[in-house]
Amino acid sequence: MPTAPPSATAPLPSPWPWPTAVGATVGVHAAAAAAAALLPGAAGWAAGAVVVNHLVLTGAGLWPRSALLGPNVSRLPPAAAARREIALTLDDGPDAEVTPAVLDLLAAAGVRATFFCIAERARAQPALVRRIVAAGHSVQNHSRHHRHDFSLLGPRGFEREIGAAQALLADISGVQPHCFRAPAGLRNPLLDPVLHRLGLHLVSWTRRGYDTRDADARRVLERLTRGLAGGDLLLLHDGHARRATGGRPVVLEALPPLLARCRAAGLRPVTLAEALPHRHAAS
Ligand SMILES: [Zn+2]
Repeated sequence: MPTAPPSATAPLPSPWPWPTAVGATVGVHAAAAAAAALLPGAAGWAAGAVVVNHLVLTGAGLWPRSALLGPNVSRLPPAAAARREIALTLDDGPDAEVTPAVLDLLAAAGVRATFFCIAERARAQPALVRRIVAAGHSVQNHSRHHRHDFSLLGPRGFEREIGAAQALLADISGVQPHCFRAPAGLRNPLLDPVLHRLGLHLVSWTRRGYDTRDADARRVLERLTRGLAGGDLLLLHDGHARRATGGRPVVLEALPPLLARCRAAGLRPVTLAEALPHRHAAS
């Protein structure tokens, strides 16, 4: 895939800093190979060490808030936390029915949020994406198709899913995303080099409402507000929204009391565009 030349103002990405777990993996493989070659009877132990190493890597990929496979933003920077800022993030949209209702609720509360959009959905609803941006919210990258096998992809698959989404979302919204959230938060060790090259932060969350699974808005609200504090990154969904018993999307029932709790606690929602510098920005 051809890469666009960096603009005059964008800092060049530095070489990929190997995450500890990846460096450790290389070390385990080298040590295991040396032991198997040099020490009689060590082959079994060496193979066992490699298997355990791979189980740890797989486990880290299945743990959305883990930073073992590379940097992972699960809270806002300390300065934002000290200012009692939090970030509301909404995934899997835009959705023709739910997103406009979410936008109305946010506007009524005077709150800005971040929408992790699925690029193909954005392409189907470009006017809705532009409405999100015009209201002052941030649009970020949640992959092109939200594939269920995303965490099994290799470097080329990640490039296709994330790079194509970057281009589509930038074209529609007029703003280049600088954050990426993996579908279901799942990934593998090959993801971070791709994000590094594209200048994207991997963003997970501090707490999530499970609003695509739970039909009870009170439980969703409880999960999001238990221990709520400055710097928290909250995950809700405007796409794939679960319906409450009355048929209304749960997110629309949970959002107004959530915004009221934030206000009462003196917490100010900000977008990730405001709260997070670009990945390669000089600090
Ligand atoms: Zn998602």
